[in-house]
Amino acid sequence: MKVLSGIQPTGRFHWGNYFGAIQQYIALQDNEQAFYFIADFHALTTVRDRDLLKGFTQDAAIDLLSLGLNPEQATLFRQSDIPEVTELTWLLMTLTQMHLLEKCHAYKDKKAKGLAADAGLFTYPVLMAADILIYDSEVVPVGLDQVQHIEVTRDLAQRFNTIYGREVFVLPEARVLETTAKVPGTDGDKMSKSYGNIIEVFHPTPKKFRKKIMSIKTDSKTVEEPKDPESCAVYTLAKLFSTSEQLEELAARYRAGGMGYGDAKQYLYDRAMDYFGPAFEKRAELEQKPGEVEDILQAGAAKARVKAQEVLSRARDACGLAIHK
Ligand code: ATP
Ligand code: MG
Repeated sequence: MKVLSGIQPTGRFHWGNYFGAIQQYIALQDNEQAFYFIADFHALTTVRDRDLLKGFTQDAAIDLLSLGLNPEQATLFRQSDIPEVTELTWLLMTLTQMHLLEKCHAYKDKKAKGLAADAGLFTYPVLMAADILIYDSEVVPVGLDQVQHIEVTRDLAQRFNTIYGREVFVLPEARVLETTAKVPGTDGDKMSKSYGNIIEVFHPTPKKFRKKIMSIKTDSKTVEEPKDPESCAVYTLAKLFSTSEQLEELAARYRAGGMGYGDAKQYLYDRAMDYFGPAFEKRAELEQKPGEVEDILQAGAAKARVKAQEVLSRARDACGLAIHK
């Protein structure tokens, strides 16, 4: 099976990114083809600061490797190291209907907020389609918010194949993990960088990490009062790290009363520290080896590029453009 996914270097990864997407990358990395890229071209629609983009991109690579992405199995690369992807974007753009893009929510949401969208944001799903189609990807592990964009990709692939009468592109499928498709943030809404409700996977110090967890919003019930676990963001997040026995025990403590939200948050902090502890250590090691990380990205790009050139040639040939040997 050919697996592919991309993640934007627009800030530090949060629990939504990890449980919705990165966890799947790692689970699927021993497939015949597992390509994961850092979507720096996409990030340009929001990050317009040279040093910031470079820093986020480097951090994204180190974070993914620290969390268990194994470059011996998976191919990790920067999107912008594969220039073929922008060429394929143009070929796809020539047959993308405007209404298809007008209904995409990244653009629609921005417009609804009265913000000016630029052409990059509007055509973002076409670049994403090129990212997926250029590697003959079959499965795309993502969170729920990306399912619509994979549908657009399928539409474009189908349209191209029909117009040119050839099976140039493989139709990919989204892979969403039901339980973690939409991880809530510290306020109970979908965890999202743009909502300011994220818990980052990596924090500068355990103290800052703890402070973030203590900031999760709860209602104002006193310690003595019984509480409803299912309507509490702390409990919902604790599900990500707990066994079913641990969860039952925690739920019973909520319902019995006598447990304050501070205790529930301490529980969450302890579980999260256990879970991510090894990644924190790995990260501290990798931070000392930027050269090694760069080598991994370049080797990944060289490998991905071979595949991208093959598929792009197929597409150019189908349209009647010359093929470069
Ligand atoms: P955010 O949504 O906070 O702005 P992001 O969208 O910038 O994060 P992307 O690079 O667009 O990050 O997404 C990376 C992956 O993380 C995507 O597959 C996306 O579906 C997934 N993802 C993002 N937020 C969540 C969430 N709250 N729950 C589950 N998956 C998520
Ligand atoms: Mg997103």
